[in-house]
Amino acid sequence: MLKTVCLYCGSSDGTSAVYKQASIKMAQVLASAGIGIVYGGAAIGIMGAIADAGLEAGGQVTGVIPRDLVDLEIAHNGLTSLEVVDDMHQRKARMAALADGFIALPGGFGTLEELFEMLTWSQLGFHAKPCSVLDAGGYYEDLLRFLDKQVDAGFVKPAHRALLLAESDPSILLARLQSWTNEAAPKITAQTAGATPSATPDKR
Ligand code: AMP
Repeated sequence: MLKTVCLYCGSSDGTSAVYKQASIKMAQVLASAGIGIVYGGAAIGIMGAIADAGLEAGGQVTGVIPRDLVDLEIAHNGLTSLEVVDDMHQRKARMAALADGFIALPGGFGTLEELFEMLTWSQLGFHAKPCSVLDAGGYYEDLLRFLDKQVDAGFVKPAHRALLLAESDPSILLARLQSWTNEAAPKITAQTAGATPSATPDKR
C-alpha cells in the first residue's frame, strides 16, 4: 500500500509552464489521496512548487536536504517536517527509505540521478517499490526511447525496462503505482550481489 511517495524534481522551473503545472497537479493528486510526499526539501523551482501545492491541498510534505544545500537551494521553512542530513548520499538513502514508490517529475541531472539509482536498485532486487516518470508535455519521451534502445542493444532486459512506469496524466500514474506488483526477476539477488549498499532502503 502506498502511504508515502517520493517526488524527484528539478530545482529549476523549466522553460514550459506545462512542466510545473503537471508537477503541481501530481502533488495535489497525492495529497487528495491521503498519500504523503517526500522530496528534496528546497523552496526553489519545481521542488518548491510541489511542496507548496501538496501543503495547500492538505497533504503531509517531508523534505530531506543536505546541510550544504540549505542556503543554496533555500530550504523550505513551511513543511510538515524538514530533515537536514550530512550529504547527498544520506539524502537519497533517507528519501528512499521513507517512500513506498518513486516519481520523477521534470528535472535536470539531479532528478535523473535519483530516479536511476532507485531503478537500478529495483533491478537488483534491493527494493520492491514502483519507479516512474511523469511524462509531462512529452518531457521524458526521448529518454524512454533511449531505454528501448538499451533493450534493443542488449544492455537491458525487457522485464527490467518494464520496471519504469511512465504516464503523462498524474491520476493515471498514481493508479498505476497503486496497482503495481514487481513481476520482473531481479538481475541478481541481494544475496548473490554480496554486500548490500548501506544506503539500501528496506524491502517492502
Ligand atoms: P536537478 O534535477 O539537477 O535540478 O536537481 C534536483 C535535485 O537533485 C536538487 O535538489 C539537487 O540538489 C539534487 N541533486 C543534484 N545532483 C545530485 C546528485 N549527484 N545526487 C543526488 N542529488 C543530486
